[in-house]
Amino acid sequence: MKRILLLLILAVAITGLAAQEGNVTPPADFFGFKPGTDRKLFTYEKLVSYLQQLDAESDRIKMEKIGESPMGKPMYIAFISSPENIRNLEALREINRELALNPALDQEALEGMVDRGRVFVLATLSMHASEVAPAQAAALVAHEFATTTDPEKLEWLDHVVYMMVPSHNPDGMDMIVEYYNKNLGTPYEGASLPRVYHKYVGHDNNRDFIILTQEDNRAISRIYSQTWFPQAMVEKHQMGSTSARYFVPPYHDPIAENIPAAIFQWIGVFGQHMATDMTLDGLAGVSQHYSFDNYWPGSTETCQWKNVIGFLTEAASVQTATPIYVEPTELRAGGKGLSEYKKSTNMLLPWEGGWWRLGDIVEYELVSTRSIIKTASLHRQEILELRNRMCREQVELGRNEAPFYYILPVTQHDPGELVNLVNLMKEHGVELFTLTQQVELGGRLYRPGDVVIPLAQSFRPFIKEVMEKQEFPERHYTPGGTLVEPYDITSWSLPLHRNVISHEIDIRSKVLEESLDPIKGDYSLLQEPGSEQVLILPVNVNESYRAAFHAMELGLKVERLRQPLKEGNTEYGRGSFVVRPDNRKQEQWQQVIDEISFNPGWTGETALDSEPVQMPRIGLVETYFHDMDAGWTRYLFDSYHIPFTVLHPDQFKETDLAGEFDVLLFPDNSKSVLMTGKQQSGGEYYLGSYHPDVVKGMEKEGFEKLMSFSDQGGIILAWGRSATLFEGVLKIKKKDSEEEFQLPFRDLSPDLAKSGLYIPGSLVRIDLATDHPLTDGMTGHIGVFTRGRPVFRTSVPLFDMDRRVIGTYPEKDLLMSGYASGEEKMGNTAAMIWMRKGKGQFVLYGFNPQFRASTQAAYKLLFNGLLLDRSL
Ligand SMILES: [Zn+2]
Repeated sequence: MKRILLLLILAVAITGLAAQEGNVTPPADFFGFKPGTDRKLFTYEKLVSYLQQLDAESDRIKMEKIGESPMGKPMYIAFISSPENIRNLEALREINRELALNPALDQEALEGMVDRGRVFVLATLSMHASEVAPAQAAALVAHEFATTTDPEKLEWLDHVVYMMVPSHNPDGMDMIVEYYNKNLGTPYEGASLPRVYHKYVGHDNNRDFIILTQEDNRAISRIYSQTWFPQAMVEKHQMGSTSARYFVPPYHDPIAENIPAAIFQWIGVFGQHMATDMTLDGLAGVSQHYSFDNYWPGSTETCQWKNVIGFLTEAASVQTATPIYVEPTELRAGGKGLSEYKKSTNMLLPWEGGWWRLGDIVEYELVSTRSIIKTASLHRQEILELRNRMCREQVELGRNEAPFYYILPVTQHDPGELVNLVNLMKEHGVELFTLTQQVELGGRLYRPGDVVIPLAQSFRPFIKEVMEKQEFPERHYTPGGTLVEPYDITSWSLPLHRNVISHEIDIRSKVLEESLDPIKGDYSLLQEPGSEQVLILPVNVNESYRAAFHAMELGLKVERLRQPLKEGNTEYGRGSFVVRPDNRKQEQWQQVIDEISFNPGWTGETALDSEPVQMPRIGLVETYFHDMDAGWTRYLFDSYHIPFTVLHPDQFKETDLAGEFDVLLFPDNSKSVLMTGKQQSGGEYYLGSYHPDVVKGMEKEGFEKLMSFSDQGGIILAWGRSATLFEGVLKIKKKDSEEEFQLPFRDLSPDLAKSGLYIPGSLVRIDLATDHPLTDGMTGHIGVFTRGRPVFRTSVPLFDMDRRVIGTYPEKDLLMSGYASGEEKMGNTAAMIWMRKGKGQFVLYGFNPQFRASTQAAYKLLFNGLLLDRSL
């Protein structure tokens, strides 16, 4: 009897399960509206709980946590495939890994894997959080594939594992949805978010995929570099509202020459299928070969350099979720490749204008997603074969074609940056080694401990791309005609940006290959701390500043050397940091040591020629207008333990700047935005799409406060366009008088641009005045990241003013990496200047010393600026 009861319970349970499978919650029931409805958006948390519910209700969906966003929200992949594939994910993952990384599979093993393998398609949605539609469409995609009974789609799911990251930027998604809902129904519905839609970097989150500074990006990168090795990947975006409705690949020129032709061909196959499927479905305005180029590796599509068929799509936007009406006369061509808004080979069915709604974008997303999954299914076998072929070919190339290795000597000017570079390459899935014995190559001796990166690796295109100097592939629209300009910057070489010496080796060496020890785990040069008591952090190492700032943050006393100090064979430069142990703060002391990854100095000598150093009170100026350069600066400061207060320009008026701050810092921004909150172009002001409450700048009163801050001994640091705030006649308002003055410099860049200087964002050499405190710890020249503006010329100072040229553009060999034309016009001009007026000091940089947290060679110019002696 008991047994019959048990069976009965089992039977009921099984029937229950089966019933549940047919009972997958539709999105409209869960969210209370159909995703894509005008003016309706759900938050990230809602989306994740819906997908988790589908995971429970359907055996075609499985959620896996992959990391956290910078603000601590959990991130996931939703795997969508047939129940069998979902059960087999681990075995399929192993096949992916072998196909991606094993160049030595025999024919039988390879055929077996191609037979059993599935195409994994990674989709990352709405990384630019204001581009809301792809993430909103995610719920519909998941529900459609969880419930479909269409035999064709079921076959796709047998062949393909769709890996959907429902939001690439969860923090930004919630900021955007909350702000949109706040303004809903008001006159300012659809207003732009008055800050970056990310903890730090906003839209530049898609410029971070070489340097991987942001946690959400590392979580995504790991999917194709270390954990799942998908064969295809799509990144889903939105673009402007008045041109094509949808971009699909192929891309426009220029293209990256390190990427194999086959990857481009397959990107084209996916794009052509999308264009065909969408157009045949009646979706007008699909365009290819348009606007977006494929030269620059800073986006999620960096995976292309790792043999992934990676691409993006871009849909025309609405005002967040508010529909727009586009007059036919407002439609226009834009960007490269589409010169007229007309039926063309790369836009065969132009959209004619009219209403454009969130629901339209969602529909385009659904059709394009189906097409991608279908393409992967149709070509399953070829795509899997291709993946292993790419691996074999790249390893083969690395064995037979120079360069064969990059060698990074362990002795570097800044060994901390060597450590960071090695760990970054490991994060990218690259294999690195240390030399176990001395090896001579091309007349140069390499020593045990030197780091070797062989090119005979599956990810060879990536290694080459980030280790070599960039030479821009110049292409023209017609022979001898206009240059096809790059979409973004043109330099990203990791060694050059860090001032780390790296040798490209064009000779193959058996001895070297037999003397390699793989670098496993975290790479560090820290040796057992010395028994002597006083810690010396050498000024030539960026990480010394991090440790010193960390020590200050934890309340330890920090000093700087007034003179160079010789200890045995080591010399510590002027400005090196000294941290003395404190019995009451042993735990904090240990925290500082634990973060150090290079070899600092130790000394028993306690009577050192040093002076105490204190962190200044820093005001960091950030505008309301998606101020990414300020965001990157916040990121850099947080990661280097530098405390700061964010100041918006309109707050200057009511802030006691001189009482509350020692240093005010202006990241790159236009003068008109800083002064008025409005963009200026050709003498006209432009308002943009911000709520009027935030369209404000310093105005006259704020700028007066700023001048008074300087007059009372404040330090002002400004780079890029912000430096021009201080050009021309300035005024200090005192109690009963006014003083007019002109700092001894001017910006030459408008004239230079007119005479042909063009730098789209490149690494340019500067020579440094090494006897100034601003250059403590630096070599005689470095590469700085510049767009060719501003460029300074100083003049002989008058009255209570002074100036020093800290960095000079040399007359020859300016360009270190990237593209420039007319750069010789910058020769013998000033790249960085220090000025004094009364007690106030100004440091102006003609480059961004922290550009996207990727210009480590210049960081010290910023850190030393923060620590300038105020009593000068
Ligand atoms: Zn985007």
